Amino acid sequence: MRSLSALVVAVAAAFGVGPLVAQSGQNDPRAREMFKELIEINTTDSVGDVTRAAEAVAARLTAAGFPDADVQVLGPNPRKRNLVARYRGSGTRRPILLLAHLDVVEARREDWSADPFTFLEKDGFFYGRGTTDDKAMASSLTANLIRLRQEGFRPDRDLILALTADEEGGSFNGVDWLVKNHRPLIDAAFAINEGGSGQMKNGTYLTNEVQASEKVYQDFRLETKNAGGHSSRPVKDNAIYRLAAGLSRLAAFEFPVELNEVTRAYFDRMSGFQADLKLAADMRAAARPTPDPESAKRLAAASPYYNALMRTTCVATMLGGGHALNALPQTAGANVNCRILPGQSPSAVRRKLIDVLADLAISVAFVDEAKPSPPSPLTPEVMRPIESITKAMWPGVVVVPSMSTGATDGLYLRKAGIPTYGVEGLFGDMDDVRAHGKDERVGVRQFFEAVEFHYRLIKALASTTTTSP
Ligand SMILES: [Zn+2]
Repeated sequence: MRSLSALVVAVAAAFGVGPLVAQSGQNDPRAREMFKELIEINTTDSVGDVTRAAEAVAARLTAAGFPDADVQVLGPNPRKRNLVARYRGSGTRRPILLLAHLDVVEARREDWSADPFTFLEKDGFFYGRGTTDDKAMASSLTANLIRLRQEGFRPDRDLILALTADEEGGSFNGVDWLVKNHRPLIDAAFAINEGGSGQMKNGTYLTNEVQASEKVYQDFRLETKNAGGHSSRPVKDNAIYRLAAGLSRLAAFEFPVELNEVTRAYFDRMSGFQADLKLAADMRAAARPTPDPESAKRLAAASPYYNALMRTTCVATMLGGGHALNALPQTAGANVNCRILPGQSPSAVRRKLIDVLADLAISVAFVDEAKPSPPSPLTPEVMRPIESITKAMWPGVVVVPSMSTGATDGLYLRKAGIPTYGVEGLFGDMDDVRAHGKDERVGVRQFFEAVEFHYRLIKALASTTTTSP
């Protein structure tokens, strides 16, 4: 059997989706400079300084003519402040929010081939911590607001840029804080954020994902208690055995399949260019108003990602028990991490877990409060420009709505009633995802294409008269 990538390329060729050269404008030097500056400011939770990065952006915006009053650096912690800037428009329509986070996950020098906090261009790639998550987007949005201002662009709505802290963890999530403490500063008709990127395989561009929904993160603490005793005289009732038996029942359980507007559209569009026609047929059958159960079963077996898109998942991630080698365990505990479909209640999931564990001696407790967020509607106002620009820049590439199995700061905005769309326009090899990993990198060409994509998208979303994509 020919390898999948060869098959994909063959099909791509058949569908006329050869290796593409996007008709981008020039490579915006402002974007590269901003990118380099941000990568070289360590913004990790442990030793980094997000405020320094926010101030670096502020300095470039004011140098480009943004009034001081429209550029702010604010936040609850001196190392974790956020940048919020406003590009004023005619006010014909409500503002849009352009969001990216400035913090990055940890990176240890000894794990990398080069210093993670030195911007390196090599072999057609930009290397550095945050090159894909999420400083390419922060640089692109900033450089584009500067370019638009210098071109004298008059938007028909305000453009709000928010570059924030602690998306990756830490105690000072900037979006949550801004929503709670400075809502008027970021209030918008909708937001453009990270979370949806371009998928490539062997250099062939396939899909441009628009993330419009995300699953809800929820941990549960499972625990059994027991009187314990001397391990030389064991009894049947054992805290570890009871928990293990419950976990085995959980391992055999699957939540029911349930699709929403976003995941139905995802499978429907993905079915359009599958080499495996059986898989394509299953995708279409799963995307029906009532998903075909056999098709859904085959899809779930085909890929953990497809499975995670179609149902709530709960999996044991940590286990512990006992207090001494020679004593019967008095306590055993486990963490079960769930990713809950939007619209499903965490309490209902907890009740289901209790049913499945089928042993009331196993307590099931919430760990932290879930942060559910409603899917964002796939409105023509947002989807049409994305589709026409994608078509113009990357002919043959399919725009696919997606639901993240992981979380972004979009959850705070959606929860606050601001629909959010993850659309980075940043293409990367789907088999070489380095976000949160070592030697994180982004293609030089792909970076500048993303900058151009955002330039066209911002103009299209803020122009009453539709400009050419
Ligand atoms: Zn991120």
